[in-house]
Amino acid sequence: MRRPFISANWKMYKTTGETRDFINAFLPAVKSVSDVDIVLAPPFTSLAAAGELLKGTNVDLSAQNMYFEAEGAYTGEISAKMILDLGSKYVILGHSERRQYFGETDEFLNKKVKAARAAGLSVIFCIGETLDERNSGKMFDIIKRQVVGGLKDVDTNGLVIAYEPVWAIGTGVTATPEQAQEAHKFVRDQLRNVYGDKADDLRILYGGSVKPDNVKELMAKPDVDGALVGGASLKPDSFEKIVKFR
Ligand code: PEP
Repeated sequence: MRRPFISANWKMYKTTGETRDFINAFLPAVKSVSDVDIVLAPPFTSLAAAGELLKGTNVDLSAQNMYFEAEGAYTGEISAKMILDLGSKYVILGHSERRQYFGETDEFLNKKVKAARAAGLSVIFCIGETLDERNSGKMFDIIKRQVVGGLKDVDTNGLVIAYEPVWAIGTGVTATPEQAQEAHKFVRDQLRNVYGDKADDLRILYGGSVKPDNVKELMAKPDVDGALVGGASLKPDSFEKIVKFR
């Protein structure tokens, strides 16, 4: 049985004060949820404040990015050790916005995934095709390339996969549950090629305009094990409803 996993991704939203306000409202609302892994991913600047408030609760913390070197002259970058130090258990890597706007390639991301795992951070590894790639029939090749390249020589421990079709992120267009299941099944088949039966234990999250009113039907699909939520995770009541999708 794969335990449901629901993570917020706040992207470049919320100051530390706004982060504290969210967490102070959200924690009591989800206190009784014991059958879902719940994660918040605030921007770097709010990690310390969030880490303090989430300590000892049923909500874990994630960073949204990191650099693969342990330390050094890399102005503006942040290492796995620094993220761990703030109480973060996870890091999101390979988000389509990082791939699209910051030119992050499969090879580069593979270095980050390895560095995160070596330091003891769990990884939420994002993959997904653009609309052009889907429309030109390249979707499956792209997903395969992202899985094989990004996860080269990485084992399944501390790994969560997020399938996020780029055309559904922040657009209000959600993949239908059937489209999500088709892609998730393909992703799991690719993971099985790499990891054998261990692929059956890996959680594959769906991301792309998940909202309180569509999460239940997505979660009902056999290979959809959770959600990575952007816009609808910015308000405590909306994210609470998603976490309580049942
Ligand atoms: C995301 O940021 O990973 C995401 C899926 O965003 P949204 O839910 O806003 O589409």
